[in-house]
Order: sequence, then structure tokens, then C-alpha cells
Amino acid sequence: MNNKTDNPTKINLVKEILAWKKKREAVILAHVYQPGEIQDIADFTGDSLFLSQQAAKTQAKVIVFCGVQFMAETAAILSPKKNILLPEIKAGCPLADMAPYEKVKNKIKELPEVVVVSYVNSSANVKSLSDYCCTSANAVQIAQAIPAERDILFIPDKNLANFTAKRSKRKIIPWQGFCPVHNVLTKEGVIKVKKLHPQALLLVHPECRPEVCNMADYIGSTREIIEFASNNQAKEYIIGTEIGIFHPLRKNNPGKQFFPASENMICQDMKLITLEKVLYSLQSLKPRITVSEDIRKKSLNALNRMIEIT
Ligand code: SF4
Repeated sequence: MNNKTDNPTKINLVKEILAWKKKREAVILAHVYQPGEIQDIADFTGDSLFLSQQAAKTQAKVIVFCGVQFMAETAAILSPKKNILLPEIKAGCPLADMAPYEKVKNKIKELPEVVVVSYVNSSANVKSLSDYCCTSANAVQIAQAIPAERDILFIPDKNLANFTAKRSKRKIIPWQGFCPVHNVLTKEGVIKVKKLHPQALLLVHPECRPEVCNMADYIGSTREIIEFASNNQAKEYIIGTEIGIFHPLRKNNPGKQFFPASENMICQDMKLITLEKVLYSLQSLKPRITVSEDIRKKSLNALNRMIEIT
């Protein structure tokens, strides 16, 4: 955090958070789509699975998960004895909500022969119905590990399903969900931004539409996009994912320029978390995220199968 430019209220708030963090012996995790000031106070920043794995590894008993519900649930599945706090209980994921438990259960009944792969961006209930979980970074690897004669039902993101089918050359039945933030980016929008920055490389997330992915110089998860931009010689990049990623990109690469593929790629749920809410969570140890033991054990099987493969 830059103390020279931040206002005194914010500086005091950050001091209080750090004091309470120490008192609670807590760890703060922040997804890279979180506001910059939240990323700055975190012990770890990264993608959802990386953060859940950090939650499992740490000795801390209190984890403040600055992200959305499915992320905190994943941490609770991997670390049932820890106190997982989500500073804003209403921070959900519209993509995860597009695959409700009952509908998924009925679909699986209709297609009993398929292998069910659920993206981590799904509820714990949906994970419990799945054979495997996957992330955007390992979806292709998971699909390739499934016996070729088995069809795959991929839940909930149709764009990631499409990308995975193309790369893995496997038959995939996509659930018709999509991330409203990534789906907002259109081919026409990309053409306009490319005209403004003709030298820039286009890096996009696989939750983007297929026609957008087809135009990209690189398609990757948030972690992969950050790594690609940090290790590449190019000086300019157009970024097709949620705008929170600009915070680590610009911080780690002061000599490079990053432009949004669309100004509208903002996840409102991710922005619900504030410094005040983080402080309240540490003080009150609320809101706590828990997963019932039955659902947890079944979801853990799907997560563990993914971890074994990758
Ligand atoms: S960016 Fe998309 S997938 Fe991620 S939390 Fe927001 S709505 Fe869900």
C-alpha cells in the first residue's frame, strides 16, 4: 500500500486490520479480481484453487477469504477444521448460480454414462455430484486423463467447455452457463481495441467467447496470464479478463503497458468486499462459511481426483 497517497482513514483502517489479524492469528487471502486495496493487505493473492491450497497449508486457524462464495466453500472443503470467513456473504458468482444442484442432478440422471467434470466455479453441492473438478488452468489435462470412450459433461461454463474440447480433442457436452463478465467481451470490441494498440499482444481468459479466444495471442487462467506477461518481451498487452488483474500486472511490470479489452469486464460480486468488511470479519469472526460433512466428503473426492492428475 502506498502510504503517501492513501488517506488517513484508510491508513488507520489498514493498521486496525493488521492488528486484528495478529490478534486472531489469521491469514488473509485475496483473489486477483479483488479491489487493489484488498490485494495489498493480503498474505496471498492468486486464483481460487491456489488460495484454497494456501488455506489448507497454513497453520492459521482463521482464514479471511476475500473472494466469492464458491471460493470460500472450496477452502472449507479442503480445511474443515479452520474458520473460513467471507467478509461479504452476498458475494456470489452468477456463473456458479447458472448450474443449480437439482438441475445438474436431473441432467446426470438423463446421461448416466457421462463423466461429470465441474469447474471450481461451481457450488459445493454441484462439486459433490461430480467425478472431477478442474480449473481453467488444468481443464484440458483433466479431460485428457478421462478414458477416450467416455463422454464428458462439463459444468457450468460453456466457453471453457468449448476451449477444453478444442484443445483436448474430447467429446464434451457443455452446460449452457457463462461468466457474464467474460462473455461481455465481443469480437467487435476486441477489433476496436486492437486498432488503438496495434503492437499489443491480446491475452484472454478461456471463459471468453470462442470467437474472442480465436483472436488471442495467448489464452490462459489468471495466473497464466500474469506469468505470460511477466516473462514476455513485449511491452504492450490487451487483457481480456476481469479488471482486478491489472493491479498485479502493473505492480509486477512497471515498464509495460496493459489495456483492458473492455472497460465493462468488472465482476460486481468481487467488488463487494471492502476494508471495513474485512475488519468486521476479523473482529466478529463472521460470516463463517461451512459445508455439510456429507457434501464436503463427496466434493473432496472430486477435488482430490483433480489434484492427483495435476
Ligand atoms: S468473474 Fe465471472 S466467474 Fe469469476 S466470480 Fe465473477 S461472475 Fe463468477
